[in-house]
Amino acid sequence: MIIIQFLLGASLASFFNLVALRDARGESIVRPRSHCDTCQMQLAAYDLIPVLSYIILIGKCRYCKSSLSATFFFNELMLGIALASLNIQHTNLPFMLSLIMMAFLSSFDLVQK
Ligand SMILES: [Zn+2]
Repeated sequence: MIIIQFLLGASLASFFNLVALRDARGESIVRPRSHCDTCQMQLAAYDLIPVLSYIILIGKCRYCKSSLSATFFFNELMLGIALASLNIQHTNLPFMLSLIMMAFLSSFDLVQK
């Protein structure tokens, strides 16, 4: 159960990062497909696995070797750990939803420069 909770948290954070980044750029969250900001190559599904892809690629784009954002990686890692550390059976829903909402809002803070 802990692994599923971690994957859920990391996936949510990954989506929150996408929403915040694309909102800042005025882009749709659907199109264009996920791509490298430097070389514009579309990323394959296996390049988009939260936390794991960053570790496998050692924080670099598969195609042009430019550095990927460590901030987004740590954001995914932290929400994954946060949700994995919750005892779901003894955590009330409003607490969990407020934690997820705060993570969503903090993604917008991470994108602001
Ligand atoms: Zn690239």
